[in-house]
Amino acid sequence: MLPELLTKKIKESAISLGFHRVGVAPVEAVPDSKLKRWLKLDYHGEMHYMSRQVEKRLDPSLVLEETKSVLSVALNYYHNYELNYDDRNSGVISRYASGDDYHKVMETKLKALLKKITELCPDAKGKIYVDTGPIMDKYWASRSGMGWIGKNTNLIADKRLGSWFFIGEILINQRLDSDAPGSDHCGSCRRCLDACPTEAIVEPYVVDSRLCISYLTIEVKEDIPENLRRSTSNLVFGCDICQDVCPWNRKVEPSREESFIPRKELKKPRLKNLAQLTKEDFRYLFQNSPIRRSKWRGLMRNTAVAMGNSHNKEFIPDLCKLLNCSDAMVRRHAAWALKEIGGSKAQKALVERRAIETNSQTRDELKTLLETETSNL
Ligand code: SF4
Repeated sequence: MLPELLTKKIKESAISLGFHRVGVAPVEAVPDSKLKRWLKLDYHGEMHYMSRQVEKRLDPSLVLEETKSVLSVALNYYHNYELNYDDRNSGVISRYASGDDYHKVMETKLKALLKKITELCPDAKGKIYVDTGPIMDKYWASRSGMGWIGKNTNLIADKRLGSWFFIGEILINQRLDSDAPGSDHCGSCRRCLDACPTEAIVEPYVVDSRLCISYLTIEVKEDIPENLRRSTSNLVFGCDICQDVCPWNRKVEPSREESFIPRKELKKPRLKNLAQLTKEDFRYLFQNSPIRRSKWRGLMRNTAVAMGNSHNKEFIPDLCKLLNCSDAMVRRHAAWALKEIGGSKAQKALVERRAIETNSQTRDELKTLLETETSNL
């Protein structure tokens, strides 16, 4: 089949499977300077997987030897509801995480698309990727004309889709008809740079992940640096701020994908309810949800920080429970939150915990907090 015709039929199949955009790029080496500089500056933080397999990241033919084309697809996950950044009794969960886990949804569709491709072209071989493996997904999506990488480093398609979509790829051993690369429409806008509470967009098109609230609440497995805790406000899983302020995201149509309909309890989760989840509740509530990634201890840590940022004394009993839970990292964040809320009850709980604390790091932090607290009272 002629490459033009094969490409046309593949694109029609992708759209009929429910993808919202599809594009094709020829395989070529990815310009390496940006990634290498970003890694050299340690902007990937604890995401050590980013610094592994760099050569493969820069050359898909090292991933699948006979790759000739990269097919990129986009799946809209947007749902129009307010994220309650100002309601200190509730937490904010990133929109992408309010529905089902996108990996499975994307993989199912991509497998169906690859099956269709091999029916159309029996010699075709392909490999699918969804946010896994050494593939520079945003680069390939922009190279295949699906949009441009904005100053907030998200891929932006257009006004109908904005940047609210997941990206997937199929590496294919067939030469397909390529699309022209997307062009940049950020212009002189810098809303995302100005809105980021931690100034994580350190220059246009460059994010220092170590400052990014998404990274801090999801990727960091142990303690959130103390100097950044206040800036995370009530965000308990991920952050959409740089997308919410982007003018290209104002009129995006809601996703038709049923799996991404936000779970009611995740649109505006009460901090109290989150703090009271047992490990078993967590596993039950977040089955097939991206939030599983944070594990119970990550969500409790983030919830404790959000409670501390609320300065709401009603949270003291829940924080006291977390202060005495079995996980030392959660205990440290509950202690920090109690100190932020302050008052005699919080102080008493910290003193009592210090008397029985066996973890040396936590004991040291309790000591420091109590010294600070005492001088504040
Ligand atoms: Fe680009 Fe402005 Fe959107 Fe940032 S907010 S990604 S600068 S258009």
